[in-house]
Amino acid sequence: MKECTVYRCEICGSDFSDRKQAKKCEEGHKTDLVVEKAEYKPCDWVNHGFPRMVILRSKDGKTAIYRTVINE
Ligand SMILES: [Zn+2]
Repeated sequence: MKECTVYRCEICGSDFSDRKQAKKCEEGHKTDLVVEKAEYKPCDWVNHGFPRMVILRSKDGKTAIYRTVINE
């Protein structure tokens, strides 16, 4: 029987046989995100309270837009 070592990215959970690849995967994820902007619908339109859209900013200044998929 052969024993195998697996290295798992602690951010996304992907497994790699090579430690460097797992480290590269972990370092490639943008963490420590800041909510730059959040847009909400009026409370009488939705009852979940979550924003309709948020813009997240990473440390390097890049941004990404996320929209809700919750049924309203
Ligand atoms: Zn990862």
